[in-house]
Amino acid sequence: MRTKKRKCENQEIKMNNNKNAYPEEFVKEYNKAKAKIDTLQRCTKCVLPETFPFISFDQDGVCNFCNHYKSKAPLGMDALHALLDRNKEPDGSVKCVLSFSGGRDSSYGMHIVKKVLGLDVIAFTYDWGVATDIADRNQRRMCEKLEVEQIRISADLDRKRENIKANLIAWLKKPDLGTIPILTSVGQQFFYHANRVGKRLDRDLIVLCATPFEHTYFKAGFAGIKPRFMSSKRAIYDNLKLAFSYLGKYIKNPAYINKSLIDTFGGYLSFYIIPHNYLRLFDYLEWNEQDVNRTLLEEYDWETSDETPSTWRIDDGTVPLSDYMYYMMSGLTINDTFRSNQIREGRISREEALSLLEVENQPRFNAIQWYCDKIGIDFKSTIRTINNAPRLYDAPRLYESAGL
Ligand SMILES: [Zn+2]
Repeated sequence: MRTKKRKCENQEIKMNNNKNAYPEEFVKEYNKAKAKIDTLQRCTKCVLPETFPFISFDQDGVCNFCNHYKSKAPLGMDALHALLDRNKEPDGSVKCVLSFSGGRDSSYGMHIVKKVLGLDVIAFTYDWGVATDIADRNQRRMCEKLEVEQIRISADLDRKRENIKANLIAWLKKPDLGTIPILTSVGQQFFYHANRVGKRLDRDLIVLCATPFEHTYFKAGFAGIKPRFMSSKRAIYDNLKLAFSYLGKYIKNPAYINKSLIDTFGGYLSFYIIPHNYLRLFDYLEWNEQDVNRTLLEEYDWETSDETPSTWRIDDGTVPLSDYMYYMMSGLTINDTFRSNQIREGRISREEALSLLEVENQPRFNAIQWYCDKIGIDFKSTIRTINNAPRLYDAPRLYESAGL
């Protein structure tokens, strides 16, 4: 088992990985795209570019996402303890199920619930066929060191990968920013299984460890859903609108009507419809990137990726491909929204964010190749199709006429 130590301070970044290993044409195409993306207008406060769906800028160049932003202070330890007290067993213990992918936040979450809060925790992992090898090894590390029992539910992995492949082939026939989330749709049964595990173990408390900085509007935005800054009252309406948007895309591209359909629909129900009564740990507790990285790397010898200095999202094999799609077609990835949220919360400066994005948005071709091999699709033709897909930064008028 290879372990790699890395500096915790994410500001200290180096240009990542050995690009010479990648086909020259891909490096050239990426550099060509990047040169254009670097010229996009960006919000003067955060780093969101003009290709972000439904973005507008005021006279100072500040975007509507910044102007409508409401700071999300954590609810605090007292509020968390009050909630935990309500879940106390007669013997004083608090039993929970931790949703655990082996990624950065759930690994840190395991440290918090077990070591800091002292909860009686069982980890739950849903394997749907594209978790990275690093994720598997980090799961083992964390569970062994913290002596946490882990329950893994594996889907029929061959069938899942076949379904992902069918959806990816359909997407490649008509590349569309609005349907990129289709790649992860068959993995969303996670919530259904998490609820079942909680019931079976008689543990009502299910802990999720996503951070508030992850909140992003662009995935739904590219499917035509306008951001609602003021309230979430129309969430049901938006979910229905999203479903109809997908239906429209399916009709225009019948390749989506494939054997994965029931699986995809199950993912939709699990994500949008079934109850999600979870304890979201970082709604209560402060999440500080430096502390998270330091804890994982120093206390748990947590493994990182060769291809990126970021510790985030190296557990899910889909991410390098979907990031590449978003970047090449729109000039942004989820890293842009994550760093923008950090800027709005005063965690990093705009300059730091821009310098981090220089590296974080670089393609991870080795990881994309791994993913393509895993689901049985040709890596080079996949990249070529993405490289030939329409680009928002090349044709802003097309973008406007699409109503975004
Ligand atoms: Zn902004």
